[in-house]
Amino acid sequence: ALTAGIVGLPNVGKSTLFNAITKAGAESANYPFCTIDPNVGIVEVPDERLNKLTELVQPKKTVPTAFEFTDIAGIVKGASKGEGLGNKFLSHIRQVDAICHVVRCFADENITHVSGKVDPISDIETINLELILADLETVDKRVGRVEKMAKQKDKDAMIEHEILVKLKEAFESELPARTVEFTEEQMKVVKGLHLLTIKPVLYVANVGEDDVVDPSENPYVQQVREFADKDHAEVIVVCAKIESEIAELDDEEKAMFLQELGIEESGLDQLIRATYSLLGLATYFTAGVQEVRAWTFRKGMKAPECAGIIHTDFERGFIRAETVSYEDLLNAGSMGAAREAGKVRLEGKEYFVQDGDVIHFRFNV
Ligand code: GDP
Repeated sequence: ALTAGIVGLPNVGKSTLFNAITKAGAESANYPFCTIDPNVGIVEVPDERLNKLTELVQPKKTVPTAFEFTDIAGIVKGASKGEGLGNKFLSHIRQVDAICHVVRCFADENITHVSGKVDPISDIETINLELILADLETVDKRVGRVEKMAKQKDKDAMIEHEILVKLKEAFESELPARTVEFTEEQMKVVKGLHLLTIKPVLYVANVGEDDVVDPSENPYVQQVREFADKDHAEVIVVCAKIESEIAELDDEEKAMFLQELGIEESGLDQLIRATYSLLGLATYFTAGVQEVRAWTFRKGMKAPECAGIIHTDFERGFIRAETVSYEDLLNAGSMGAAREAGKVRLEGKEYFVQDGDVIHFRFNV
């Protein structure tokens, strides 16, 4: 399963945030595909559509979908040179599919800042630089050998050499690999390098309790936004401390608490949805009277593969996917009405499943 890693300098609020994630988190028993590991927190994906489908179908049971966050502790300046947890830290990042980079945007004099003052951009750059240096080392290790082969007119080596040179240039200008433009063909080679800075990133601005309602007043958040814009990255504002309190509440209490604050959606819920999308994940639904359920698939998956997420038999014996979009189903008011309105499509093996599809798979046993 795809997972997002939570990274950040010490004392920025990572543990507090991760704590909120595990407290709010789903019972792993419901999600057998998920990892059981103290550093992994399983979250259910908040999805209004699932509630609407439940009202419509009135099933016995409703099951949201879930995915994983991984807590990656211990980056400090010099990690790429083995400082702190150094290499171990980097190898943990290598295993995640996207990065949630937590940045301290709260000023609390009682809590030490590793570099002496709150400076989110300097913090971001410290971590980004460690990752860039680690990638530079990866590239440097290969480039000599590949260059030799390229000189002997080895076609693959020539292609790779061009890529490595381009990457090296970027790294030496302190730019992450994700900012370098590659063709689709080149991208396949780049993937094989398992770079850290190719992974998609979002920034989590951790603000103090006073800034939750109107974070635009917080100058640090502004700085992070400006920085992230250049990186084409999203910024999610949370107050980790409040999130860990919200996580203790049940749904009703949570709704009341947020309403009192005048907030539509908790920062953690926003973070969950943004990260899901950052990972390239999307949701389709099954809607029967027994169970209405959300399923996670990777964008770009075809119908049989999506069927296989429910059960391997569904994929092996796949015949077709009876599909209606969530909007069409809701407008029609029932599956029967949607069918009569001609909104239920019979999709075959080549169909790319779309976010929000409500699907009934037909298969041979
Ligand atoms: P980590 O080292 O990045 O995992 O940071 P922690 O989660 O351990 O947080 C470091 C300190 O900052 C702890 O004392 C937290 O209580 C505090 N902290 C975390 N988030 C917030 C916040 O939103 N507001 C305030 N005032 N303190 C926070």
